[in-house]
Amino acid sequence: MIEKELAGKILREALKTGADLAEIYVEDVTSTQLGFDDSKLEQAVHGADRGAGIRVFFGNLVTYAYTDSLSENSLLDAAHAAASAGASSAKTQLIDLTERKSPLVYPVEKELDSMRIEDKAAILHRIDETARAYSPLIVQVFGSYGERVRRVWIYNSTGLMAHDERTFVEIRMGVVAKKNGTMQRSFRGFGGQKGLELLDDNDPTAVITEVAESAIKMLDAIPCPAGEMTVVMPNGWGGVLFHEACGHQMEADFITKGTSAYAGKVGEVVASPIITAIDDGTIPGRRGSLRFDDDGTPAQRTVLIERGVLKEYMWDLVEARRVGREASTGNGRRESYRHMPMPRMTNTFIDNGEHDPQEIIESTKRGIYIKQMAGGQAELAKGDFVFNATEAYLIEEGKLTAPVRGATVFGNGPAVLKEIDMLGNDLALDPGMGICGKGQSARVSVGQPTLRIPKVQVGGTDEPVEGVMG
Ligand SMILES: [Zn+2]
Repeated sequence: MIEKELAGKILREALKTGADLAEIYVEDVTSTQLGFDDSKLEQAVHGADRGAGIRVFFGNLVTYAYTDSLSENSLLDAAHAAASAGASSAKTQLIDLTERKSPLVYPVEKELDSMRIEDKAAILHRIDETARAYSPLIVQVFGSYGERVRRVWIYNSTGLMAHDERTFVEIRMGVVAKKNGTMQRSFRGFGGQKGLELLDDNDPTAVITEVAESAIKMLDAIPCPAGEMTVVMPNGWGGVLFHEACGHQMEADFITKGTSAYAGKVGEVVASPIITAIDDGTIPGRRGSLRFDDDGTPAQRTVLIERGVLKEYMWDLVEARRVGREASTGNGRRESYRHMPMPRMTNTFIDNGEHDPQEIIESTKRGIYIKQMAGGQAELAKGDFVFNATEAYLIEEGKLTAPVRGATVFGNGPAVLKEIDMLGNDLALDPGMGICGKGQSARVSVGQPTLRIPKVQVGGTDEPVEGVMG
């Protein structure tokens, strides 16, 4: 952080050319990344990065300058650079900085340095051994361990001073299985905004066993039938489809640009009446959770859709100011101090429904049950999507039958949202590995209960879809 007195001096410099709002964002990140491939440790990177960005507002004109040095001179230079890109006759006074406290508690029970790095690498070694021992058909195994502590401070000329500290741990793993020229990949992982207690709640060897089992099972799968059919989506990670194909369109920048299917539709029916969708940046332990967003606005829970009716969009400071809103919804996020914030989702999910998930399968005569989703793509501003599954099954007469390979599902998010006809009572959030890419990367969570889309286009192909949804 920087001293209050220095922050004041920099903000005054940034206001000199008549800005109506000036802001300092200071960030300090430390991270460790271990990568295990081909039965050996291939990567061990320890990183540290710190710097600051100065943002200056002249009405809707926003200028930005950043520096990787927190020295007084560098900060003043950045403030001068950001201020000199605009000019106005306004005389905004700096209000005394007062620290805001967040009531949100995101506990880190076991500090990241309470385990030696050798022991963290040993987890990846065990993942490799377990997968290879599972079957000789497993020909490749990879695993990674990542940890990151991100501390941010935001000061602005309205007197705001806010601090957030975000600690993340994650483990990813995957295998390639091969038999008679057929290859099958499978991967999974877990993570969260928490400390090493993550490892007490998740067993990496149990997870890699499931991954290996899934890949082996799918080697003998039949090709997926193609055509229009009923698709049952899994709870948890299945929510990535809502995030990518609908959620982005509820981010305020797509709304104010008018490119979103949801622009101007607050109060209108945009989804099946069983759908309630929420963005909640306040859930302890979740990757998208914040105490304050990167504009310094407190994180909040925002109901986006309530029983099919569009209620609210996700706003950051810039877009809220553009339309004259009193406050944003706490969705301003940035990849680092090198970037300006933009409206982003936090932890976004479709709320619980009332059906037993088993009942959803049982009431489906013929369709596809997606158990694990793999890669996918969505056109963020329109919501056209394509994704494929690493594990999927035929549903015949209400029962899961043969595993199918290469299931690829195509559709349009806003259209599909109106058609969902059954919603499970098994709401879950994803296991904690979500990264959203919208020009800048951001950690997010997604979620949903098991749900059924009565009719959607399914293709059968062995070609994986490039790109990772998240
Ligand atoms: Zn995304």
